Amino acid sequence: VIVAGERQVRSLCPFCGVGCQTVFHVRDERIVRVDGADGPANQGRLCVKGRFGMDYAASPQRLTVPLVRREGFPKRHDFGRVPDDWRDAFREASWEEAMSLAASGLARIRERDGPRALAGFGSAKGSNEEAYLFQKLVRTGFGSNNVDHCTRLCHASSVAALLEGLGSGAVSNPVSDVRHAEVIFLIGANPTVNHPVAATWIKNAVDRGAKLVVADPRRTELARRATHVLQFRADSDVALLNAMLYTVIEEGLVDEAFVRDRTTHFDDLKAGVAAFSPEAMATVCGIDACVIREVTRLYARSRASMILWGMGVSQHVHGTDNVRCLIALAMLTGQIGRPGTGLHPLRGQNNVQGASDAGLIPMMLPDYHRVGDAAGASIFETLWGVALDREPGLTVVEIMHAAMAGSIRGMYIMGENPAMSDPDLSHAREALASLECLVVQEIFPTETAVLADVILPASAFPEKTGTFTNTDRRVQLARQAVPMPGQARQDLDIVVDMARRLGLDWRYAHPREVWAEMRLGMESIRGISWERLEREGGVTYPCPSEDDPGHPVVFIDRFPTPDGRARLVPTQLVPADERPDDDYPFVLITGRLLEHWHTGAMTRRAAVLDAIEPEATAALHPDELARLGVASGGRIALRTRRGAIELYARADEGMPRASVFVPFAFAEAAANLLTNPALDPDGKIPEFKFCAVRVEPA
Ligand code: SF4
Repeated sequence: VIVAGERQVRSLCPFCGVGCQTVFHVRDERIVRVDGADGPANQGRLCVKGRFGMDYAASPQRLTVPLVRREGFPKRHDFGRVPDDWRDAFREASWEEAMSLAASGLARIRERDGPRALAGFGSAKGSNEEAYLFQKLVRTGFGSNNVDHCTRLCHASSVAALLEGLGSGAVSNPVSDVRHAEVIFLIGANPTVNHPVAATWIKNAVDRGAKLVVADPRRTELARRATHVLQFRADSDVALLNAMLYTVIEEGLVDEAFVRDRTTHFDDLKAGVAAFSPEAMATVCGIDACVIREVTRLYARSRASMILWGMGVSQHVHGTDNVRCLIALAMLTGQIGRPGTGLHPLRGQNNVQGASDAGLIPMMLPDYHRVGDAAGASIFETLWGVALDREPGLTVVEIMHAAMAGSIRGMYIMGENPAMSDPDLSHAREALASLECLVVQEIFPTETAVLADVILPASAFPEKTGTFTNTDRRVQLARQAVPMPGQARQDLDIVVDMARRLGLDWRYAHPREVWAEMRLGMESIRGISWERLEREGGVTYPCPSEDDPGHPVVFIDRFPTPDGRARLVPTQLVPADERPDDDYPFVLITGRLLEHWHTGAMTRRAAVLDAIEPEATAALHPDELARLGVASGGRIALRTRRGAIELYARADEGMPRASVFVPFAFAEAAANLLTNPALDPDGKIPEFKFCAVRVEPA
C-alpha cells in the first residue's frame, strides 16, 4: 500500500538469520510501517519482530555523541541492569578527541605489550563489509588474530564439525528446501520462536505431507505438527544420535555406494557406535528403543530427508560431537546433495554466516583459510600488503580470561554486548572493567558500553547500506532508509577512521568498494557483484563467476575437502560439565523468546515487542511449580555457583521436569549471571544449554 507522504525502501529484517526481505515505509525520516517483500526466504512473510521491531532505531536512548570516561571515574561492574546514572561517568567529546583517545590508547598497548595484548569483538548484526574491515583492522592494525564475535556463542561447534567433516561450515540446503523433503528431522531448535518464518515453511511442508520428527528436551510448538516427538534427556544428544547411527548400520540402512564413493573412516565410525544400541541407550536418553529404530528407518528410507538444528545441539561441551553425529547420519544414508536433503544449522543473528565468512573469527581468514595455512595467508598478505600473524587468536571466552589475567589490556568492541551475552557475567564484566583501554562502538548504552573508556555512537541497521548473508548462504542487500541521529556515524566510517589513526592507509568511500575488495580475496563470492545484488535481490554462494547463478544446494557430487570426500568421525559420551546435585538440583537451559532478540538491546527498545513481553520470566513444568508452592506468575529465585537472579515463573507443560528455561534478553534478571563458562574443546562454545541451578520461591 502506497501512502501519500511516505517513501518505500527495500531492505531486510535485522532480527534473525532467516533473512526476510522487507519494505520500510518512511515518513518524516522515521520508519512508520514494515511490510514483507517477496524475497526468496520469506515471500512476503514477516514475524512479529520484523513487522513491529524497527522503532528501536528511533529510541530516545540512542547514543548521539561521542563519550569519554571522566578521569579517575571507577568502572562499576557489579550492576544488574545499566544504572540510571551511567552517564555521570562520561563527558561528551568531539569525534576528533574521542577517536584520538581511543586510537592512542590502543596503540600505546600495542607498542608496549605487543599485538596480542589487544583484541576485538566485531558483530554478527553488522554488514559483511563491516565484519571484513573490522577483522582486517585487528589483523593488520592491531597485528594479531585476537578477533571474534558471537558465532562463538551460537554455532561455533557446528562450524567446527562441518569444516572437519565436509570442508565447509555453511548449510548444504536452504530452509525453504523443506518443501522438497519427505522427512524433516528437527533437533535442538525452536524455529517458531527463533526463526519464525522458517517455521512457517516447515508447517507448510507438513501440511503438504512431509513427516516431521522433533527431537528436543523441551516440547516445543512444532511438536504439535510432528509425527514423532523425541523428548530426550537434556545432555543425551550423543546417546540418541549414536543409537540412530547404530540402527542404520545394524539394520542395513546404509547407502553403500554413497559411503564407498564419498566418505572416509566408515570402519572407525562403525566401531565407535558398536556399544550404542538403541536398547542400551534408551535408559540414557529416555527414548524407547523401538521409537529410535522407527525414526531412524523413517529418516534413512525416505526419498529426501533433511536435518535442521539449533543451539540446543551446539551449546554443549559436546556440541561438536553432537554435530559430528548429525553429519554421520546424513552421510551413512546418502541424505545430502539433493533438494530436500542435507544439513542446516539454523543461524541466529542476521549476519552470523556472513561475518564468519568474512573472517571475523580468530582461527580463519576470510573464506575459511586457516590463519596458519601459508597458501591461504598469502592471498591476504598480497591483498592487504602486510605480513600476518600465523598463530590463531583467542576466542570470546578465552579473551575474557586473558583480560582477567592481564595479558589482554585493550579491546575494541563493535556492536557486541559481551557484558550480557557471555557466560558467567560477573567474571566477564569484571574482565571488561579491568581493561586499560576499552573502546565500544554502539548505538545504545549497553551493559558493555557503560564499562568503556570511549564510546563511539554508531549506526543502526536501517541507517546503513551493506550486504548481509542469511542462514541459506544467500547474500542480500540492505539499504539505508533513515538518517543517523545526532553525531552518530556509520560503523564502516568509524572503523576506517580508526585504521588510519593506527597507521593504515585505508580509503573506502562506499561499502561497495569494500565488497569489491572482498571479492578479490574470497572465491566463494567472486561472482556476486554489487550491481548483481541490486538487480537480482540476492545471490547464493558459492558463486565463483558473474555468469554463475549461485548454488542453493551444494555437495551434489563432491565435498570441498582435499580428497572430495566427507570424513566420518566417531564420538563417545561426554557428560555436561556441571551436573545437578543435591545443592543445585535443576537443569538451567537458556535461550530466546519470540519477541526478544539476544541480549534485548534492540527489541526491548521496540515499543510493541516490549509491551508483549515486558518482564523476565522463567519457564518450568507446572508440576515443578506446584512442588515449589509457586503459582504461575509468582516470583522465583534462581541460584548457581556463579550468581543469582529473581524473576517471574511461567508454567510450561512442554518443559521437562527438574529443568528451568530462562531467556537471556533481560538485564534485570540476566540469565548469563548463572551460566557455566565451560567450553566445547573444538568449537570453544560455552555450555549455555546445561548447568546446575537451585530454584526457590523468591
Ligand atoms: Fe525477521 Fe527472522 Fe522474523 Fe524473518 S523470521 S521477520 S528475518 S525475525
